[in-house]
Amino acid sequence: MNSLSSFVPFHPIAAIATTPQAIQTLQPLCQQIGATLHLRENENNLENTYIYQTTLKEHLPTIWQQNKALIFCLATGAVVRLIAPLLEEKFHDPAIIVIDQMGEFVISLCSGHQGKADQLTQLIAHLLNAKPIITGAVNSLNLPGIDILGVPFGWRKGQGNWTKISSLIASGEKVEVIQEVGSTLWQDNLPENHPFYFGFPEINETTQAKGRIWISATQRRFPEESNLPKIQWHPRVLWVGIGCIRGTSQSLIERAINQVFQQQHLAIDAIAGIATIDLKADEIGLIEYCQKQQLPLKTFPPNLLKTVEVPNPSNIVAQEVGTPSVAEASAITAAISSQTSPSSLIVAKQIIKSENEGTVTVAIAQSNLEYTGRTGQLYLVGMGPGSLNQITAAAKTAINQADVIIGYSLYLDLIKPLKRPGQIIEALPITQEKKRALRAIELAQWGLTVAVISSGDCGIYGMAGLVLEELKKQGWDGKTPQVEVFPGITALQAAASRVGTPLMHDFCAISLSDLLTPWEVIKKRLEAAAMGDFVTAIYNPRSQTRTTQIIYTQEVFLKYRDPQTPVALVRSAYRKDEEITLTCLQEMLNFPIDMLTTVIIGNSSTYNHHNWMITPRGYNS
Ligand code: SAH
Repeated sequence: MNSLSSFVPFHPIAAIATTPQAIQTLQPLCQQIGATLHLRENENNLENTYIYQTTLKEHLPTIWQQNKALIFCLATGAVVRLIAPLLEEKFHDPAIIVIDQMGEFVISLCSGHQGKADQLTQLIAHLLNAKPIITGAVNSLNLPGIDILGVPFGWRKGQGNWTKISSLIASGEKVEVIQEVGSTLWQDNLPENHPFYFGFPEINETTQAKGRIWISATQRRFPEESNLPKIQWHPRVLWVGIGCIRGTSQSLIERAINQVFQQQHLAIDAIAGIATIDLKADEIGLIEYCQKQQLPLKTFPPNLLKTVEVPNPSNIVAQEVGTPSVAEASAITAAISSQTSPSSLIVAKQIIKSENEGTVTVAIAQSNLEYTGRTGQLYLVGMGPGSLNQITAAAKTAINQADVIIGYSLYLDLIKPLKRPGQIIEALPITQEKKRALRAIELAQWGLTVAVISSGDCGIYGMAGLVLEELKKQGWDGKTPQVEVFPGITALQAAASRVGTPLMHDFCAISLSDLLTPWEVIKKRLEAAAMGDFVTAIYNPRSQTRTTQIIYTQEVFLKYRDPQTPVALVRSAYRKDEEITLTCLQEMLNFPIDMLTTVIIGNSSTYNHHNWMITPRGYNS
């Protein structure tokens, strides 16, 4: 089954229907989102269904743990009764969603943040064109849930009173945020009336704040008696450089790291990964430690490590492995996230020995950019000509699913209703397409899911080509970051649909913008299109500075076509300021034409009938 990729992070999903109407509502949805439909009887012999023989009440516990989300098409009251005995806590329970029989409402019932029920509810609502019912307080405040705030950046949740802080935020109380490390992109995208107060590490307990959020690599221990509730998020910025003698045990490595972290008051959850010399790539203890802690192991050649300046070089080590430093040099090297952000060694090498388990050297470097541990995704999305109901359901879910949305500000305004609290929005002026493409790639390479939005179709004079070209320049392997293209209704389709059926026979599109294409090439194509009797859609027909190209176009077409050939000028199709003019080749320049206009020139058989532009399907009748 080929389900929409935006739903993959929610898999496996089980959907439950008990009536024929509910089956009718859920079955097509299941196909689109890749869910398994659970039915009592196999009346319809449907694909991808699971038939249970017991009662639903008996069946439910058997699928509770295996699924990340359960979608019920049942009365809410019945669902509440069914799930009540199974609910444990929000960290483990699946997301619970209820849809009414007609598919008009989608309710996020349980595990709104942790189980991502809120997000899944929105995605499904877009697909069904239904109303999402999300009752979590932060959602209506347009705030990201504090317990999922760091998820896009791969941060790990530390200790603290999460329930208390969430409820403070929900009731609009001031909460102090002390962010020492990690991305601050989330701060730039908060609504104006957010309850956060951004303090500094030195701030004392006398501030007005009712709670505190630490975003740091430090392991803080909160005393029981403290009356200011606190939580901590740990961005993964620490790279642990390890040197060890062959055969050092996993447990000694673990103890050594724990010991150094404890001494330095650093959080184990802030570890990005382990770094060492190539020679140690097969060191069993290290591999086992990384597997256990789910950490990447980065290794470097001695030739590279020996070029790194370190505080504690050793001649003996240099003689043995060809670099005077392993732990310090590899920690520093791993932490260099980009050429522009140097890393710093925050803990010089410490040697931990055990008589029969080996010797471990530990050093820690801090990176400017946290490790997300995620594979980035680039969604290249066409958002259609302008109105929300001309966007495909797939494109809507892609936009809603993305961590970051990048596009031209006008288009971002148009899709505002699709926005989810906590999403990062980056608008760039229309002239900075390349910058936009590079930024999208940078964020996706870092591990985020990035939607790049173009108007119309993103692969037709849009951003998609630019992004793929830039990826290729950077040596992209075609897989990482993953790319998916979401088509949209392009301007020529939108314009045509507003005036009738002008594109009913062979047609072509020509952009008159000579910014990226030599004018000579455009001239040749205009001539060929006119000569070939193609219905021709002209994109970018005229700008403030580029005014002569459309005059030339008219001249060329007049050489081959009747002056009365129908021409449509469609400006801002499907937008509030839409303007439509039906004219003819000879008179087309008497009307306003600008960068928001698409010009459609009919072929030799196109005619107008009561303000409808019609191109006959064939020439034979
Ligand atoms: N990717 C877009 C095209 C971008 S080029 C697409 O597939 O539609 C920009 C040109 O597209 C504009 O100069 C105009 O000619 C045309 N265009 C874009 N949106 C339009 C709309 N809503 N109505 C009419 N023309 C439009």
